[in-house]
Amino acid sequence: MKVQKFGGTSVGSAPRIKDVAKLITSEKGNIVVLSAMSGTTNSLIEIADYFSSKNISGAQELLHAMETKYMSHMEQLYSNPEYKQKAVEYLHSSLSLIFNSGKDYSKANEKVIIAQGELISTHMMTYYLQEIGVKAVLLPALDFMKIDSDGEPELDFITSHIKPLLSKNEGADIYITQGFICMNANNEVDNLKRGGSDYTASLIGAAVKADEIQIWTDIDGMHNNDPRIVDNTKAVRHIHFEEAAELGYFGAKILHPSCIQPAMYANVPVRLLNTMDPKALGTLIDNKPERGTIKAVAAKDNIAAIKIKSSRMLLAHGFLRKVFEIFETYHTSIDMICTSEVSVTMSIDDTTHLNEIIQDLKQYGTVSVDFDMCIICVVGDMDWGNVGFETSAMNAMKDIPVRMVSYGGSSYNISFLVREEDKKRALQSLSKCLFEN
Ligand code: ASP
Ligand code: MG
Repeated sequence: MKVQKFGGTSVGSAPRIKDVAKLITSEKGNIVVLSAMSGTTNSLIEIADYFSSKNISGAQELLHAMETKYMSHMEQLYSNPEYKQKAVEYLHSSLSLIFNSGKDYSKANEKVIIAQGELISTHMMTYYLQEIGVKAVLLPALDFMKIDSDGEPELDFITSHIKPLLSKNEGADIYITQGFICMNANNEVDNLKRGGSDYTASLIGAAVKADEIQIWTDIDGMHNNDPRIVDNTKAVRHIHFEEAAELGYFGAKILHPSCIQPAMYANVPVRLLNTMDPKALGTLIDNKPERGTIKAVAAKDNIAAIKIKSSRMLLAHGFLRKVFEIFETYHTSIDMICTSEVSVTMSIDDTTHLNEIIQDLKQYGTVSVDFDMCIICVVGDMDWGNVGFETSAMNAMKDIPVRMVSYGGSSYNISFLVREEDKKRALQSLSKCLFEN
């Protein structure tokens, strides 16, 4: 059994829903996770916003626009009036639920409103599949997808609730379910945060120990460098979960780090595939390390580097703890860190509380900040026992001022902190030195 996830653009119009239907029916017995049609979650958030400011007519206007748009999708999607009727009835019940939840606005009701996008798209797909003669079963995500009071998914609950649902519907051609939405610890409707459908797919894949989790998007797997900046980037066909996690953090078009975890622990491979080119190989992410290769390079902008220098740090214990506690107080996470005997530099990407952080750090030493920096991350087999890889990466940076280097924190990456203005040169040079030989 595979778990296949399709995002908002992949189901963004009636023709695209039909394309996805063709794709998912080429095999039997898989679980398909769908996002809301593209733009819908944003619209629902806006509608909820109007309700929260008690602007009922503003919300109504947007609801009407949404109804018109969906009615035209329905026209195009169904040829059999019976299935169209079912889909339209579902749409209207959903729109009424939005209206009633909004009139009586609360944070919990807002979640009910936002959940409708995935509920509508999955109903549309299920009725369409049934219309074309496919035995499709809709598994309600709200019956098994659950988060605890910290917002963390409860894998045991998910496993023990999805399995009976699957057994009850054994023999179906296909199981459709909603991405993103879940129940929370108070038994209210909630969600796994924006873009959470990938997370749903990964959690279901782990729960049912799927053969594979497929993430279908409209891009062609992942590349070894940023195609917007570097020419001749190549597709990466295979990558380790740890490498994918390092890259995901850098906003490389790949799974979000939180989605990697469940699949990685359950040892279920994840494959990134392209809906526009379904036969393309895509990118396989799994637990099999590939020795002796550098896989990819990615960059992240808007980084600030904070240096604190203290003569008191010399031979002092507990200094780092005090420094880190300041960042913790302001809920600011540190990305890169370098220490010498008397100073520490840390990089952060969230500068919301920078002023307070600097102020507090000043009690322990002299503080300075470099703005507009960029982290360049190189991933691959960076086991310290290897020779040559760090040297090639360093060599690529020989004409670029490097503020900071981090190596040895993991066996999968080496990171450089450079000025944003040097990013392009750095990425190009790394590409040339690491991949073009
Ligand atoms: N529909 C949700 C969003 O737009 C979840 C997802 O698409 O993954 O964030
Ligand atoms: Mg951060």
